[in-house]
Amino acid sequence: VPARSLRTSLTLWNVATLVGLLAIFAGALILINQNRLMAGLDNQLRDMGDGAARSGPDAGPRPEAPFPPGRAPEPGLGPGQGFGMGPDMEGPGPGGLGPGGPPPMEAPPPPPNPMSDYRLVANYRRPRFFGLDGGSLASPEDVPMDPVGLRSALGGKIGWASVKVEGEPIRVYSAPMIRQGHIVGAVQIGRELRDLDLLWVAQGRTLLAMLPIAVAVAGLGAYWLTNRALRPVASMTRDAASISHSDLSRRLAVQGEDEFAQLAQTFNGMLARLEESFGRLEGAYADLERSFEQQRRFTADASHELRTPLTRLRLATSSALEGAKTPEEFRAALVVADKAAETMSRLVQQLLTLATLDAGVLPLRLETTDLRIVAAEAIDAVGNPRVETDFAEVPLPIRGDEEHLKRVFQNLVENALRYTPETGRVRLSVGRQGTEVFVAVADTGEGISEQHLPHIFERFYRVDAARARADGGCGLGLAIAKDLIATHGGRMTVESKQGQGSVFRVFLPIAGREPGTQISSS
Ligand code: ADP
Repeated sequence: VPARSLRTSLTLWNVATLVGLLAIFAGALILINQNRLMAGLDNQLRDMGDGAARSGPDAGPRPEAPFPPGRAPEPGLGPGQGFGMGPDMEGPGPGGLGPGGPPPMEAPPPPPNPMSDYRLVANYRRPRFFGLDGGSLASPEDVPMDPVGLRSALGGKIGWASVKVEGEPIRVYSAPMIRQGHIVGAVQIGRELRDLDLLWVAQGRTLLAMLPIAVAVAGLGAYWLTNRALRPVASMTRDAASISHSDLSRRLAVQGEDEFAQLAQTFNGMLARLEESFGRLEGAYADLERSFEQQRRFTADASHELRTPLTRLRLATSSALEGAKTPEEFRAALVVADKAAETMSRLVQQLLTLATLDAGVLPLRLETTDLRIVAAEAIDAVGNPRVETDFAEVPLPIRGDEEHLKRVFQNLVENALRYTPETGRVRLSVGRQGTEVFVAVADTGEGISEQHLPHIFERFYRVDAARARADGGCGLGLAIAKDLIATHGGRMTVESKQGQGSVFRVFLPIAGREPGTQISSS
């Protein structure tokens, strides 16, 4: 599990978003609610305030609350029915703006008890009347709850304000009292905001209480969802991790068509490309290893082949220098040395030919000629009357290096003679077969066993090394022939049965027939 997993981030983001949204919604809800309730309260205050302004201040001090506690004025309460117009009060009547009549007999003012909620309620909800000088018109203890509002009311403007009176938050409505078109005073009526504030607090508390639940639900939901969504990632990670370089053929499972499926497909495509290049690399490496091994063996074989005649040469010369006295003895040593030198020079020549063939730089003198001519020259060079011939009577044009081809045919004939007893037959045929011309060298000699047959074109391969070496061969003749014919765009085959004889065939493309078959001169 990664240190900072996507799952954690997604869950955190989800929770944060939800909490943020919840806060915004709750805030908006509370605000709207507050505004609506405030507007309702303001309307109610205006209705009562305007009613009070119309009817004017009471004559005497109020013995009781305008309404009993618990019975707040209803919004529908009409003016005139509201406070200040208790049935037991004899109002001074419109225009009667005196400092108040005599107090009712039956109701002496109650002892002031400002701590009583009841009284406070009564106090704030009771309209207070003020004259133009700002002094109370009803009871002297009435002070303006909102002096600023009072001033603008005396200026003719109605208004609401939220103020604090004696530490109590109050909503105050101020309105002018107008009699016959003149402002004669102002009225202020209030309403405690405590219950409204309590409401906001309660709402806030409820929302706060819901917060942990919302967080828990959002968190768990997000965790579950991301877990579900990320499950393919986990399985893909597992699968991908288990794919090693040795099993690049494996692929990730592709499920569905979503982004993860796409990712898996892309990954699989990459694996395929990786597998391909890896395979190519492995192939190239194997080729390299094989050719390196061939090179190593070739060098070892070549040194070994050179060492034998070299040893013979040194033995001949040193023994002659030490012990030979007569000219005959010297001559015999020289003959041995000469033969060894010849063997070596032939080997070196063959090695050189192979090296240039391998490097693709064997200089070829390409000419258009007839295969029968080249074959006849080869037979002449061998100079053995035992060789029978069978030449086709049609032209057999080829394009190639006469000298090299002649040596190939010569080599084949010499081999045939070498491995065929005097009683046997050796026959060279030249002819055409399809788009190719061929030289076939057949003998009735000892043949080559099945076990050796697939190898005789390999470098330094001899069926009987000791015997071949005694004949001066070191197993390079057929290998060079095969490479040389391949350079001419041709091919070599062999058929042989042990004890019955062999047939070596060289096929070459007919010159001028197939423009596509070009002889490489490199
Ligand atoms: P070398 O140069 O020593 O003659 P070659 O490459 O020509 O070697 O021949 C490889 C081996 O193939 C020989 O050692 C011999 O055993 C076998 N071989 C080639 N030609 C014949 C043949 N006509 N009949 C039987 N064996 C043959």
